[in-house]
Amino acid sequence: MSSDTRIAASTWIESSRPKYWSFIFSFLLLPFSLFAQAPDIKHVIVIGVDGMSPDGIQKANTPTLDSILKVAAYSFKCQAVLPTSSSPNWASMIMGAGPDKHGVTSNSWQPHKQTIELECEGTKRNGKPSGMWPTIFGELRRQKPESNIACFNDWLAFNRLFEKGVVNRQRDANLLQAASHHGYKGITKKAVNYFKKKKPDFMFVHLDNVDHAGHHDGHGTQAYYDAVGVADQMIAKIVKAVQESGVAEKTVILITADHGGIGHGHGGDTPEEVNVPWILTGPSVVNGELQVPVETYDTAATLAYLLGIKAPDCWQGKAIVQAVAQ
Ligand SMILES: [Zn+2]
Ligand SMILES: [Zn+2]
Repeated sequence: MSSDTRIAASTWIESSRPKYWSFIFSFLLLPFSLFAQAPDIKHVIVIGVDGMSPDGIQKANTPTLDSILKVAAYSFKCQAVLPTSSSPNWASMIMGAGPDKHGVTSNSWQPHKQTIELECEGTKRNGKPSGMWPTIFGELRRQKPESNIACFNDWLAFNRLFEKGVVNRQRDANLLQAASHHGYKGITKKAVNYFKKKKPDFMFVHLDNVDHAGHHDGHGTQAYYDAVGVADQMIAKIVKAVQESGVAEKTVILITADHGGIGHGHGGDTPEEVNVPWILTGPSVVNGELQVPVETYDTAATLAYLLGIKAPDCWQGKAIVQAVAQ
């Protein structure tokens, strides 16, 4: 039951019955309020910026993120998992568990190839075992088969991290652009066009330019901050597309990263590598810095909550319900 329905129902009672009926009626509705579902959200977008640290957001020229932070629920201490490599962290984010569970312990991981025995397994589009821990992509397809799901990834290896065939549209970065580390341009354009055309229920956009600057020029350098500024411009394009599609009041956007970095890389356990931004914005999202611990593997459970599906029992993460008004 939506809060609108509750308000409408109690208003109707107020005008047509004595006051005590209103009290009784509100009391009867109380259990529904206690177990409130996520608000009426129809579209969820994740923008994952590879290697974007909280320091990057705070020091770079990021007008879009700055304005989002004024209304967002956010943490600058969301914890990545160890090792702070890309695959283990993207996997944990979309699989709702850590590497000791899903087995994606390095960038050389492939489906069906992990050493760790899976306690639970996702399913491919055809219903066959996926050879990997269940992800938010596969669970949304399984629980809401009519959903429109899309993934646009700048890093070509990203899409092996979710169940085969479960998305309606998946596009890698253009190879030439990716080779010159400009894949973010085409990826953003494809995501913007697809969102405007299809208004997907769930869309994941992965941008790689910031991580490249971290490796090439070093974290904390002007070139790194410039790259964060470019990512901010890509985020602006996606936000604009949502607004122009007329569904902003039903769309939630999560902006996060797989890891930060130190010097010319990442993989270790320093706060610079482990702390990542986790920024949720949209209708019903409360404003302010989250006062609860946020782990990157809480992301999948939070997305499930926002999308109105059940998190699998084997997911370790919790939905960050504190980010959303109940
Ligand atoms: Zn990465
Ligand atoms: Zn990297």
